Amino acid sequence: MSDIEHRTPAAPAPLDWEYAPAPEARDIVSFRERYGLYIGGEVVEPRSGEWFTTSSPADESPLAEVAQAGGEDVDLAVGAARAAYADGWSSLRPAERAKYLFRIARILQERARELAVAESLDGGKPIKESRDVDLPLAAAHFFYHAGWADKLEYAFPSRTPRPLGVAAQIIPWNFPLLMLAWKVAPALACGNTVVLKPAETTPLTALMFADVCRQAELPAGVVNIVTGDGSTGAELVRHDGIDKLAFTGSTDVGKAIQRELAGRGIPITLELGGKAANIVFDDCALDQAVEGIVNGIYFNQGHVCCAGSRLLVQESIAEPLIGKLKRRLQTLRVGDPLDKNTDVGAINSRAQLDKIRELVASGEADGAEIYQPPCVLPERGYWFAPTVFTNVAQSSRIATEEIFGPVLSVLTFRTPDEAVEKANNTPYGLSAGVWTEKGSRILWMASRLRAGVVWANTFNRFDPASPFGGYKESGFGREGGRHGLEAYLRFDE
Ligand code: NDP
Repeated sequence: MSDIEHRTPAAPAPLDWEYAPAPEARDIVSFRERYGLYIGGEVVEPRSGEWFTTSSPADESPLAEVAQAGGEDVDLAVGAARAAYADGWSSLRPAERAKYLFRIARILQERARELAVAESLDGGKPIKESRDVDLPLAAAHFFYHAGWADKLEYAFPSRTPRPLGVAAQIIPWNFPLLMLAWKVAPALACGNTVVLKPAETTPLTALMFADVCRQAELPAGVVNIVTGDGSTGAELVRHDGIDKLAFTGSTDVGKAIQRELAGRGIPITLELGGKAANIVFDDCALDQAVEGIVNGIYFNQGHVCCAGSRLLVQESIAEPLIGKLKRRLQTLRVGDPLDKNTDVGAINSRAQLDKIRELVASGEADGAEIYQPPCVLPERGYWFAPTVFTNVAQSSRIATEEIFGPVLSVLTFRTPDEAVEKANNTPYGLSAGVWTEKGSRILWMASRLRAGVVWANTFNRFDPASPFGGYKESGFGREGGRHGLEAYLRFDE
């Protein structure tokens, strides 16, 4: 043993690290006991007379009562959006529209801490993600689209862009406020009005956004928010007063929406599921790739449509890579979403936890090898430990179906051609990741991968200027960038 080796103290095992709790202040947000619907600039009681409780997935404690909108409520909301569209929003000077969007963006920044805490309480995601990802990006979407509002003619030269009318927008529970921003900001920038239905399990930040709209003095009826379950969404889709439908959620519901709208001439944007391949070549920076893999699948508990849920690793480095990955998993902190040290928060709902458990059990039954780092899960609430499956067969359900949880399936490949073939062997096509030091290989791979987004030596990077969307069963249409604007416009050529 050399002198240096002799003097270097042994690195502590990852599990020896202790963190003191670092809780974010819960009392920065105070929820009302009951939230009505936001229609025509007013908070109103639901005509349906029905309410439901939204609770925290981290401890199952109730947070607030929320209105369950029925057919009559949806009709009122669409009517309010139509009136606001006709009464001035669609003909407002674009630079004036931009001012409202800038105002909303700034209010989101000012109220970021409060909204981040609300997002983590209602949805279970770690506060560091709500604070550092969801809120900054939601504000960025409004800033970005405020900039476009009076430049649409420049975005589409030699074409005459016009708004579509009333946009119906249905969003999921994984990024409640961010998905709202992705939908509402471009719709308003283009001169449309909106009826938005947030997900049943995460309605609170959308209802707080109603307050943001009032603070920004947005004209009444430009944004309307109808809360409820899938039946409220179905009422909205069926309504004959809508001119545009934008949906993010499961492929099954996306298909049902497409069937419902067939023949009605309504433009649709569908952003559905995914089973992204994160492809790691033997020449990559291994430690950097491990961080990218962790970010790709454990970010937001894996409740991410573009999550890197299939790891394709070149056979020659599979062993060291998986060793490093398992060691890294031991350092992930699972627990209280409001603790600033938490990496993996609560699973969003009992139903989602059941789905994850069922798919993980099927993986074990198929003979895949499961690894979960030792971690103590809280007794109350919905929790699932970060999980890696190795020895996964291509045909196994854990390699083909969207788990939407913190579960990674590892497969191997030998050649770039094989990597492409395996990556594309899925009904989905939303995203992919490539890890290699060779620029030429990145370009070669990117041109062959059937995915809407291909990240190189990074993963889960989002920017309002960059269009996002899928191929095949991941949906169609793009959100963000110039392409995203086009989805909210018609053109008098
Ligand atoms: P859904 O597709 O059911 O939910 C998405 C949104 O659609 C929610 O607002 C939902 O309302 C609403 N909705 C449900 N049924 C209808 C309908 N018939 N017509 C109109 N709107 C409807 O997703 P789930 O929450 O059920 O999640 C199931 C699976 O979907 C997940 O396990 C995951 O695999 C995938 N998923 C993918 C997402 C993505 O970003 N691509 C996001 C969420 C889920 P409500 O919440 O009230 O039921």
